[in-house]
Amino acid sequence: MKVYISEAAFVNIIISAIEVYRKECLGILLGHKVGSNKYVVEYAVPYQSADRKYTEVKLKTMREQRLKKNLKFLTYISEIGDFHSHCNGTIELSDTDIEDMEGSKSNISIIISVTDQKKRILWQSLKDGDISGNIGNDFSVRLSCYYIDRKKNKPSKATIICPYALSFKYIQENAREAALMA
Ligand SMILES: [Zn+2]
Repeated sequence: MKVYISEAAFVNIIISAIEVYRKECLGILLGHKVGSNKYVVEYAVPYQSADRKYTEVKLKTMREQRLKKNLKFLTYISEIGDFHSHCNGTIELSDTDIEDMEGSKSNISIIISVTDQKKRILWQSLKDGDISGNIGNDFSVRLSCYYIDRKKNKPSKATIICPYALSFKYIQENAREAALMA
């Protein structure tokens, strides 16, 4: 499974995670499926003032229903999954995450792991399908994407394709230089 992430979605996922850092963010992914083994994530929309603890089960269900009901009046793009952040350094799905995925009709789930930055690394694709890099001088970030393998009925890892993230290092270098000159 390949999951293409647009610039807009990438920026939103990262901003959402950093905004509430040390708390977890949660939101939905809008986009479409291409063929049988590719998703395109066009937009990522965070749930407002959502702490994952509160959004589990009831609130999440209620918001999702409201959103699904009204989304079709706004756009032809549909909900294809969700995203949330981890601040404990793990990129793996928790037991709750697995239950959530197996129980929901969501197709894909992106985890963004945010930690304090320890060393500078350039944005890169990793062998396991993740992408990782730094934001400025403060944060290290890694994105993983899972989908439910319908044959096994278990979450499996997808390969993230995000050309914007890989071009992102140049934006960051320019921002650093601009900050030094200011
Ligand atoms: Zn999680």
